[in-house]
Amino acid sequence: MSKDLYEYEYVGGRPSLDFVNTVGGLRPASASEHLVAYGDLIRWARQARLIDSRRGQALLAEAARHPQRAEQAVESARRVREALHDLILSALRSRRPPAQALELVNRWIADAMSRRRLIPRGSGYELDWQEEPGDLLAFLIPLALDAAEILSGELERVHICDEAEVGRCGWLFLDETKNHSRRYCTMKECGNRAKQRRFRRRLSS
Ligand SMILES: [Zn+2]
Repeated sequence: MSKDLYEYEYVGGRPSLDFVNTVGGLRPASASEHLVAYGDLIRWARQARLIDSRRGQALLAEAARHPQRAEQAVESARRVREALHDLILSALRSRRPPAQALELVNRWIADAMSRRRLIPRGSGYELDWQEEPGDLLAFLIPLALDAAEILSGELERVHICDEAEVGRCGWLFLDETKNHSRRYCTMKECGNRAKQRRFRRRLSS
């Protein structure tokens, strides 16, 4: 029964960018969806260290008890992910953001902010998130504020992989190099492919 599981990559430099990168290829033409079932979302969140394995197991058990809710959860995660993608892309391409995407992301951020709570810890307090019982997407709440920070103050460092130019990759990343020279999501995939293409072009010219 062992089916090869997709290996998630975390190269965006920020969790909300990694979340957007759970679609492979370049949207829309060559996009491939890597969050198909609720279990995928849990696997992604586990590897992103948004949840530990105990929490993951508990969420999977809850999802198994409520398959319809689990399906809706994945759909709504994908919806907010695509809205976030559209907002970032609009900014990178200097286009006006789609109103629907902006509204959805704004609702997501407002909901996340309304869940901020001070919890007494030791002799002080800790800023935590209030979760609704049975919420299958609670681990995505912190991502909303991460996305808000990026959209409102770090967009100039967000780049789309250079392989977007040849329609191969649409992954986003935060360029943290000193001289702003990062061009590819990963060197081992996209960087290498581009290098080989340049090499072949040189040979045939
Ligand atoms: Zn790439």
